[in-house]
Amino acid sequence: MRVLHVGAEIHPFVKTGGLADVIGALPAALRRCGADARVLLPGLPALLAVQREARRVGTVQPPWQAHGGARAELLEGTLDAPTLADVPVILLRHDALYARAGTPYGDGSGHAFIDNHRRFALLGLAASRLAEGLDAQWAPDVVHGHDWHAGLACAYLAFARRAAKSRAASVFTIHNLAFQGLFTRGDFNELGLPPEAWSLEGLEFHGQLSFMKAALHYADRITTVSPTYAREIQGVELGSGLDGLLRGRSAHVSGVLNGVDDAVWDPAADASIAARFGVRRMAGKAACKAALQDECGLEVRDSAPLFSAVSRLTEQKGLQLVVEVVDELVARGGQLVVLGSGDAALEAAFRAAAARHPRQVTLRQGYDEALSHRVFAGSDVTLVPSRFEPCGLTQMYALRYGSLPLVRRTGGLADTVVDCTIEDLADGRATGFMFERFEADDLRRALRRAFTLWRRPREWRAVRQRGMEQHFGWDEAARRYLALYEQALATIA
Ligand code: ADP
Repeated sequence: MRVLHVGAEIHPFVKTGGLADVIGALPAALRRCGADARVLLPGLPALLAVQREARRVGTVQPPWQAHGGARAELLEGTLDAPTLADVPVILLRHDALYARAGTPYGDGSGHAFIDNHRRFALLGLAASRLAEGLDAQWAPDVVHGHDWHAGLACAYLAFARRAAKSRAASVFTIHNLAFQGLFTRGDFNELGLPPEAWSLEGLEFHGQLSFMKAALHYADRITTVSPTYAREIQGVELGSGLDGLLRGRSAHVSGVLNGVDDAVWDPAADASIAARFGVRRMAGKAACKAALQDECGLEVRDSAPLFSAVSRLTEQKGLQLVVEVVDELVARGGQLVVLGSGDAALEAAFRAAAARHPRQVTLRQGYDEALSHRVFAGSDVTLVPSRFEPCGLTQMYALRYGSLPLVRRTGGLADTVVDCTIEDLADGRATGFMFERFEADDLRRALRRAFTLWRRPREWRAVRQRGMEQHFGWDEAARRYLALYEQALATIA
């Protein structure tokens, strides 16, 4: 089975969120299961700089007139990271489109690139060209796109199939339905798609061009990153206006939970934390906590439950609820470290909380991968109070690192954490804390449960151990995707 993953980020080189972790781990897991999985990414400078032994695969002609008609070049090699050593990565090189500073999507200060429709249409077109046999040495059986950036791959491929130019199937994974890739009718006219694609039964979404809708309409199978989110997006509240389309395709929509990459997230082997630890040797966890308190300027006190959040600071992540309860958290004897950046008002609110409680609360503003490992390793509780959460990786990393997740019951959070209710504690199932409604009072009650458990160290340790023993493996996810690829191929055969 030959599978081409198409996306915009890959850990450890280009990462703005969990999407990078998935594209950095899933293809390798598929290869371990015997599939020939490869990855297609835009030729971003950070990727071209680390590609080794590149082979020129071919070129792709953009359908628009801009850039003097310059063709894009496909280069296949491996990226210089141990976790990606066995994964062939194809980079789409077109310097006028991709050789820019910033994130894969914009200038890094909140402004999206104005030609993103071209940048990501070309990515989708290249995927389709590969499925049409552009490379005599390798063509995918399945094109697996991730998020709106790869959405047009499904559309180009559908039309290539209609023209009998390809027999490949498409699978599309929604990592976050809230980001849809919306552009104008004029942008659509540049993309070389047939005029009939501009319709309700196509990629038109309320008069706009939607890359996400293109994927949801044309993909042979749609997945999202947790079973609960797969149900939630078929409802009005979290359907982002696409719930009707998703309900119509519900037989082809499913949820596959993301995994944790053991090669990156293992407290027993993690070089970026103060001391290594595991379920049967927890002394290192205490050392990590003291080191984190010290690093963050907090009072070094083992008896204080240390809460943390590692997150984009956006509306979605719900940290405004934490702002509302932070004084109570401190009054009860807790501490808080927040690692994140984003919304200026939220940053200011956490800075103000840190100013009120300088030895108990700290904000580490920014994006810092190594520090994120130290935060999970050093903290006792990780807060993930999201409004919605397709899968959420941080609660899974927290579980692995012995930091009890305190989460809202939504999406993948609901699928990966078991609340410390009296029943689930008694049954030996509980792994964290959960609240229902998106309200500070509900969060407050979950916090109180956390403080109550903290005062019972034996029970705390039992819950923590159970959490650390949870297994969210990529190999399991890979097997599910393989079964799905088979189904997709069978339905189009
Ligand atoms: P999302 O993709 O919506 O941001 P996930 O929980 O799926 O949420 O994934 C977030 C990923 O980004 C995790 O790997 C998390 O550790 C990482 N992350 C988020 N914020 C930061 C930060 N400020 N510094 C370092 N890593 C971060």
